[in-house]
This record gives sequence, C-alpha cells and structure tokens, in this order.
Amino acid sequence: MSDDRPMPNAALRTLFLAIEEVMGANGAKAVLNLAGLQAYIGNYPPNTVDMEVNFSDYGRAQQAVEDFYGGRGARAMLSQIGRATFRYSLEEQPAILGLAGLAMKMLPEKTRIKLILGRMVEAANKNVNLPSHLEEDDEAWYYVADECPCAFRTRTEKSPACYTTVGTLQEALKWATGKHYRVQEVECISAGGSVCKYRVDKIAQE
Ligand SMILES: [Zn+2]
Repeated sequence: MSDDRPMPNAALRTLFLAIEEVMGANGAKAVLNLAGLQAYIGNYPPNTVDMEVNFSDYGRAQQAVEDFYGGRGARAMLSQIGRATFRYSLEEQPAILGLAGLAMKMLPEKTRIKLILGRMVEAANKNVNLPSHLEEDDEAWYYVADECPCAFRTRTEKSPACYTTVGTLQEALKWATGKHYRVQEVECISAGGSVCKYRVDKIAQE
C-alpha cells in the first residue's frame, strides 16, 4: 500500500453527507463504525479546503459501504452516493468544482460535456490533490485519475471499485446536459490497474 495522501476537509465531509442522505443517519453511523472512523461520528470534517484529512479515510468509508451491502447492492448504493456527492459539492463548495457562475444553457451539448469534464479535472488537480487528465477518441471521453482513494481500500474483489466516482460523473453530466450518459470504470487501481479510468460514451442513453 502506498503512503497516505492528504485531501481537503470538504471532500470527506461531502462524502459523509452523501452517505447520510442515501443510507440515513443510522446507516451512516454504522458505516463509520465499520470503517474504523468512529472519530467522525457527530463530528464531520468542517466545510473548508484545508488538507486535514486523508485519502485512506475516504477509501475506508467507501469500502465499508461495499462491505455493508455487498456485490450489486453495494454498486448501486455507491453510485447513488456519488450522485449525491456531486449535488452537495455544488451546494456547499461550488468554488471547489469551479462551477460557480458557469452559464451553459446557450452552449452546444458536446461543448458542455467537455467543459464540465474539464472543470472536474481542473478541480481534482488544483483542489483535491488528485492528479487527473482527460483523453478522447471517436466514441468516448476518458476521465483518467492517476491517484485514487481506492488505493487505500482493503478489497478482495478484483473488479473496478470506484462506483462513487462513476455516480459523480453521471450526475455532473446530467447537470450539464439534462441527459443520461453512460459512464464505466474501465481500469481501476484497486483491481490492479495503473490508473482509474472512466469511459464516458459520446452518445447519450436517452
Ligand atoms: Zn478505481
């Protein structure tokens, strides 16, 4: 396992709020207990960009959700939590996402998608200590993260783990376009990959 990596308080706070929204207050408590993160029960990190929490905290909370539900159920829960994470980030820390005051209504759909993905990459690099970049081919965009909290998850399954990020990207695309775009994690650090790579189809599902 690599050395731990600091991240901003607001990022972990947002994840906890999202878990609470999806699983309820008692569910969130159970997850924090299971994750060994009891210190955060009733004591979420403050809504600030100070780097006082770690990737391992974030990864352990996600792993606890996965262990709590298992398999398919866990994947659905984690992607719902990811969707809620995007909404909370928008409400609580629009500056982190770089979306404050962004007017997209007049722009063509493909431009909106590139804009939102670009802003998320920029935010990840600048504010979340999460080096990322975008790639593109004829059929898809690829959001590529060189580091990920999943590196700190103790996991036996060798399948992609980052359903929270999948959900976050789906919700961001929905916010930007009003449509549902398919997002799949095609390479994952926790499953032996060198990066976490998310494929976004260029054609909307509806
Ligand atoms: Zn991953």
